[in-house]
Amino acid sequence: MHRAESNLRKNIIEHCRWMNAVGINQGTSGNVSVRSGDVMLITPSGIGYDVMSPRDIRQMPIARTRDDHGAPPAVSTEWRFHRAILHARPEAGAVVHTHSTYATVLAICRREIPACHYMVAAAGGPNIRVARYATFGTQELADNVLRALKGRTACLLANHGAVAIGRDLKQAVWLAVEIETLARQYYLSLCIGGPRLLPDAEIERVRELFQSYGPKPRRTDSSPPKRLKRGVYPTRQSRGGSDHPDPSRRGWEARWAGRPR
Ligand code: 13P
Ligand code: ZN
Repeated sequence: MHRAESNLRKNIIEHCRWMNAVGINQGTSGNVSVRSGDVMLITPSGIGYDVMSPRDIRQMPIARTRDDHGAPPAVSTEWRFHRAILHARPEAGAVVHTHSTYATVLAICRREIPACHYMVAAAGGPNIRVARYATFGTQELADNVLRALKGRTACLLANHGAVAIGRDLKQAVWLAVEIETLARQYYLSLCIGGPRLLPDAEIERVRELFQSYGPKPRRTDSSPPKRLKRGVYPTRQSRGGSDHPDPSRRGWEARWAGRPR
């Protein structure tokens, strides 16, 4: 196994364990996949993240062939929606599926997350839809998830959980946490009379603002950023970063200290 792939596998497990530690997944619920060229690396089925080793991570082609072709033994039961997303959304480098509590509560009630907070724009539009219910692991569920993700980077899964995608695993995990936070905020607002929603035009405006939000690197020449030490570049945090919806643009490392890099 190449070193890069071995590192990717370790990185997947570190993120899975971190998700358990912060409470957005537990036991063997949820799964994670990462694009690596033409294949995806994906968590195995039914193995607790605490005992999972890099060798347990499964690999399979992203290209759609016949339904079950290429599925390795003991791969996550949800390989179909992971593959469908990575196939249909070339901009996505990683997919994270959780059963995080508040997102799942809304999914159980089949309530989408509306524009109750401007951060809903971080998932690409004025709502986070609920994918129609289908049994876990089925192609029907994969089709429903793809539909709910149209123009979005996250959705809920009816009576099941949530899915978030990102350019890489770091961004997908970050979004999964944001979705759970939004779900909790929306749920609590429903408990005290219900939210006042933002208009679509405001969410569009926020989406535009997100493009340039956050501190820019202060560079006066075109040379690459200086390394602090071997392999480590200055973070936005070390330059005084702030909350940006895109983790590569802000110092969210400060908020999520201890999270795998
Ligand atoms: P796997 O253990 O097969 O990945 O299944 C967990 C899950 O969340 C199914 O929806
Ligand atoms: Zn699930």
